[in-house]
Amino acid sequence: MIKKLSLSYYEMLKRSKFKLSKQVDRVKSTWIKLSEAEEQRFDSLMEKLIKVSLHDHTVVFPENPDEFIEFARSGDWVIGVEGLARSRLDAVFEGMDDGTCLARSPDPWSWDNVVYQLGLINYYVGKIDEIFIGLSADDIVKAHNEDKLAMFIHLEGAPHMGEEIDLTRILYGFGVRCMGIVYSVGNEYGSGLADDKDYGLTPLGSRLVTAMNEMGIVIDLAHANDKTCLETIEISSKPVLITHAGARSVWPTRRMKPDEVLTALADNGGVIGIEAAPHTTISKNHISHSIESIMDHFTYIEELIGIDHLAFGPDTLFGDHVSLHKVFREYLSIQKSKETHIEYPQVDFVDGLENPSQYPNIIRWLIKHGYSDTEIEKVTFKNIYRVLKRSIG
Ligand SMILES: [Zn+2]
Repeated sequence: MIKKLSLSYYEMLKRSKFKLSKQVDRVKSTWIKLSEAEEQRFDSLMEKLIKVSLHDHTVVFPENPDEFIEFARSGDWVIGVEGLARSRLDAVFEGMDDGTCLARSPDPWSWDNVVYQLGLINYYVGKIDEIFIGLSADDIVKAHNEDKLAMFIHLEGAPHMGEEIDLTRILYGFGVRCMGIVYSVGNEYGSGLADDKDYGLTPLGSRLVTAMNEMGIVIDLAHANDKTCLETIEISSKPVLITHAGARSVWPTRRMKPDEVLTALADNGGVIGIEAAPHTTISKNHISHSIESIMDHFTYIEELIGIDHLAFGPDTLFGDHVSLHKVFREYLSIQKSKETHIEYPQVDFVDGLENPSQYPNIIRWLIKHGYSDTEIEKVTFKNIYRVLKRSIG
């Protein structure tokens, strides 16, 4: 985890053309209350635990949502090092501008837009002393031991490569170690969660799975449609991830995964990271989206497939996430992914898990609800480490 901010970070901050959002306490988001004894346990756990987020976006957004499109085209990134230091994470799966990068073409998943982002993230991380690109499972431990943060480059979908599956070598070369087969709208490899018809994994998609297994890029199925998830899990020779989602039995939307997919994931040895982006992991018991609704997904999935297959991929960012969903509605397939027959209130932010700096609140919740140190260590680190060791080495 990052223990102090370097000059290199402040230099990056100074160069930004935009007035950026606050990385800490942007809104009044609740912290889980603990007793004195629990606070002590929290402090010691925060120090000794290795903590990994399976999915977040750590680039800081402008304060003014009217500037989001211009920002998405600008390449003017500041990584939220201050907020990341507060998160006390040792590693994060970084989603960059996945789904919203418009710098090189109007299609966020064009080869040019994806390579553009990969170049940028390598450039910016290279400029910051306290962060490095994570390339292997053991880089997580290295970051923990050296008071740094390992950033694993994570593409939520594959770029359009057509039949040129060998181009995955370029992605690997740029440091990609986790990639979705497909984002929300289907591509040449599989169907996404926004597709009305689920064609499953295509023949090209099967080739992509094999290539990723052989190369050492862990597969993410967070945005894939159900049949595509099941068929990918069936042929993948390595465990896979669902980096950020929840349970459809808890909240009935396409964005959530049905029990059948969750059970198949566990049989394959994989792990699901619980999602927390606004209006995703709601629950009927906690209808106003907050950390309590998010944890309803966690406890349900724990009951279904066991704690060995769970982690957290909060999918938070620094800035107004609710406005971001409005601005990028089409690109992110917001309408399709949230459709449900149940009425729920709109929130301005997710109380208790507003941005990456609130990751410690998950640990506070787990302490408060009687989870043991061993169980907490599994969901913050060990489960993820196990999958990565087998999938990327
Ligand atoms: Zn996503």
